[in-house]
Amino acid sequence: NKRVLYTKIPTGFPVDGEDMKVVDSTIDLEAELPKGNFILKTLEISVDPYMRGRMRDPSIESYAPAFEVNKPMTGDTMSVVVKSNNPDYKVGDLVYGRTGQGIFEEYVQVSAEYAKHAYVVRNDAKENGLPISHYVGVLAMPGMTAYYGLNEIGKPKKGETLYVSAAAGAVGQLVGQFGKAMGLHVVGSAGSDDKVDYIKTIGFDEAFNYKKGDIEENLRKYCPNGIDIYFESVGGKMLDAVLAVANNFARVIACGMISQYNLTKPEPIYNIMNIVSKRIKFDGFIIMDHASHYEEKFLKEVTPLLVSGKVNYKTDIAEGIEKTPEALIKVLRGENFGKQVVHVADL
Ligand code: NDP
Repeated sequence: NKRVLYTKIPTGFPVDGEDMKVVDSTIDLEAELPKGNFILKTLEISVDPYMRGRMRDPSIESYAPAFEVNKPMTGDTMSVVVKSNNPDYKVGDLVYGRTGQGIFEEYVQVSAEYAKHAYVVRNDAKENGLPISHYVGVLAMPGMTAYYGLNEIGKPKKGETLYVSAAAGAVGQLVGQFGKAMGLHVVGSAGSDDKVDYIKTIGFDEAFNYKKGDIEENLRKYCPNGIDIYFESVGGKMLDAVLAVANNFARVIACGMISQYNLTKPEPIYNIMNIVSKRIKFDGFIIMDHASHYEEKFLKEVTPLLVSGKVNYKTDIAEGIEKTPEALIKVLRGENFGKQVVHVADL
């Protein structure tokens, strides 16, 4: 039985084998379970950029709790119950480890107390033939981030120009598709030509590789009417270029700034005054604040779009729990292509 341990606070990019280690642990699957306990077999692990923010000095406050050194890493997971002494989690139930509290271990013994806040039964994942990995991706936190951010913060109006950075990623590929369905002119950027080709096939009107040429020049070329809505995932130079090109009264959906996560000192934003002069609405949000009241509406609207094939979703699957640290580093380096998931076991 393997688990992913968090072993050290990284400086800069985390290092596999130093800051995170996959180690053996023991679990007795035959032993009698205390009342309320159950055992999960982990199927899928979600690897997400915010996990880098949890690898910090615990005295620094932030929206997601800091990981504890020498404890297993946690995040969103999909699992199946393989043994149970808890009537709410029956053998065969599919279970979603949510709010970043699913434990990264092949087999996990969970108490009723821990389960209350961390694990919810998701047997709907058996019903419609979608891959189980979708239940930590498009039908979970990243999907809701795209949907909520664009609708509730972007407040899009037909005909406007939407620009999406990290557009081939877990969140970005959905933002573009949702934007098209709302009648927006959708422009995206990504860090490789393959990613650029992919987002064009799923409906982005225009796309460019931001590593080639000047970002501001590309934005002026591909957004000839300026930018009305920017779905911000990157920060740094990308944000600076957007502030130069944005229209008056543009909205910035401030979702993330991944280019800054591994820097010891953040980069300056030179065009920050444009927020004032262009009367830009710059609106940050954390999806977990809204998940409990928004999830039902979101799942009802988005699940049929996936089932019918109206929305596409590309997933990047690493095989085996031992690949988890590497998969996180890949995401932080921009080497993932689609939603990064670790496939731990088959159902
Ligand atoms: P992605 O699947 O998009 O993976 C991250 C991508 O970011 C990489 O593939 C890479 O794509 C890009 N990237 C990495 N480093 C850089 C860099 N230095 N400069 C520019 N781009 C870089 O991740 P998610 O879709 O899960 O997350 C996207 C953003 O949304 C992140 O900022 C994340 O923190 C944020 N987020 C915020 C939430 C909230 O509640 N506010 C919830 C979920 C996510 P490329 O090849 O294009 O460079």
